[in-house]
Amino acid sequence: MDPQPSRQQRRAQQRIAHALGEIGFALPGSVTERMMRCGKRICRCKADPPQLHGPYLQWTRTVQGKTVTKLLTAEQLERYQPWFDNARQLRALATELETVSIAAVFNAESWGR
Ligand SMILES: [Zn+2]
Repeated sequence: MDPQPSRQQRRAQQRIAHALGEIGFALPGSVTERMMRCGKRICRCKADPPQLHGPYLQWTRTVQGKTVTKLLTAEQLERYQPWFDNARQLRALATELETVSIAAVFNAESWGR
């Protein structure tokens, strides 16, 4: 027998599926503002106290378990901010879909809470 999610759960699943279908390009990872040291041996960034370079916009993501970073210009971040926002929305929708699905299986199998 197929599982029979409630009407409310089916409506939530349809709303989420629709929202997922509307999402555009999505960039994973996060962007942080960072101050950095350079490679020169003598530089203000090696002084005491250090005067670090920056701020730089660093995009960090994970590729096959490894952290990969890329520096972005302010203009690049502005251009791709909607893609980062889409990825965040994608994760939120996926989490919501999983939450609804868990509730549905608990109802269907009479597992209580
Ligand atoms: Zn330096």
